[in-house]
Amino acid sequence: MSASELSAASAPLAILGGPAVCSAPWPKWPDAGGRSRDSLLEVLESSRWAVSGPWTGRPPLDMEFATRFAAFVGARWCVPVDHGSSALLAALTALDVGPGDEVIVPGLTWVACASAVLRAGGIPILVDIDPNTLCLSPAAVEAAITPRTAAILAVHLYSAMAEMDELSRIAAAAGVPILEDAAQAHGALWRGRGAGSLGAIGTFSMQQGKVLTSGEGGAAVTSDAGLRDRLERLRGDGRRYTASAQRVIGRQDLEEVGGLQGWNMHLSEFQAALLLEGLEQLPEQNARRAQAAQFLDGEFDGLEGVATIRPYPGNTHRTYYHYVLRIEPDAWAGRSIDVACEAVSAELGVWIHPPYQPLNVHPLFQPQRHPFARLPGWTAKLDPRRFELPEAHRQADRAMLFHHSMLLGDERHLAAIVESVAKVQRYAHLLPIHTSNHDQHRHGH
Ligand SMILES: *Cc1c(COP(=O)(O)O)cnc(C)c1O
Repeated sequence: MSASELSAASAPLAILGGPAVCSAPWPKWPDAGGRSRDSLLEVLESSRWAVSGPWTGRPPLDMEFATRFAAFVGARWCVPVDHGSSALLAALTALDVGPGDEVIVPGLTWVACASAVLRAGGIPILVDIDPNTLCLSPAAVEAAITPRTAAILAVHLYSAMAEMDELSRIAAAAGVPILEDAAQAHGALWRGRGAGSLGAIGTFSMQQGKVLTSGEGGAAVTSDAGLRDRLERLRGDGRRYTASAQRVIGRQDLEEVGGLQGWNMHLSEFQAALLLEGLEQLPEQNARRAQAAQFLDGEFDGLEGVATIRPYPGNTHRTYYHYVLRIEPDAWAGRSIDVACEAVSAELGVWIHPPYQPLNVHPLFQPQRHPFARLPGWTAKLDPRRFELPEAHRQADRAMLFHHSMLLGDERHLAAIVESVAKVQRYAHLLPIHTSNHDQHRHGH
């Protein structure tokens, strides 16, 4: 639709009571496709519901998923866990991050990245981002390295990977490992290598909104035999799978190894069943999302006041947790990102929202109120307000996120995304400057 047709046909905006751009329903997420219903029933009747259940003569689905997911990522091993947050905690602990150790964390990411560091006893060091990818700025990481740095947590955010060449160089020079959080990047590639396989350990979330999901769930992957062994015991209260020759039907399938302090972070067999089915669909869905995103990039690159993500050249295959637009307030009559998102949501009939609030002001990140803050000198060290994150704040005030399930829509859905953004921009001057709740973001994952 041309701009002149829009002005005649589409004013006023849906949020102001006008007709919406899109009334078609959006693709459902998650969508129980393939054999997932049958697989769940098979688990139900199998009398093996948990990793800690008895050996039935058949490898548990947890193990089958681990094998398949490691191959998908291109790592030697995968250790499935109950949440992405648990994967981070197990990974940090496996890497020997402990009390007082500093871990570099991007200032713009889900709160679990920083709170996992705190749970491991570490001090989250919040570092600013690169505006083109919304991922860690390598220069800012380099400037934040100290003799107490114990790890760099590289997060691949929304639809772009962090600059893994530069980060690997900086990490090697400092003699610290990279922990890759690929919770939003299942299947992305860096110079042909899978996201999650480039650091010492890679972690994933299979929470409801993620591109591979069992409602709740997670995994850690590694190609280091020692780390794999630690991860397996950490997630299993110090236990690991019994060597296959020693398995006895009806007996617990775990041997008590100990040697470190673990917790129960096992995934259930129901979840593993869903993940095995989801993994079957993932490559085709990732390809469809990438194709849709390419179409949207082409459309939006011509629209003034709107910029798309500019991935690093090394990010040879992108995946999409959210499709991201960055809008220039000047070209949108100075309206806040919350107002713009609400107006686009009304046009599309689906929730469009800004990114996370930066972690130095995020209401869910309160390390200075954690019991560790009672340790001498820790309150000041843990206070996130001591970090300056100007670029994270700039981008948090600009970015507009479209959930990956929207990219699984048809041509009409994609055209509606383009049209709704153009329409809201054109009539932005009709909108209030701020939302009624003073732009208090509530962005979830
Ligand atoms: C979702 C997510 C997590 C946490 O995963 P849960 O499964 O919700 O615990 C961690 N890091 C990132 C980047 C995420 O998107």
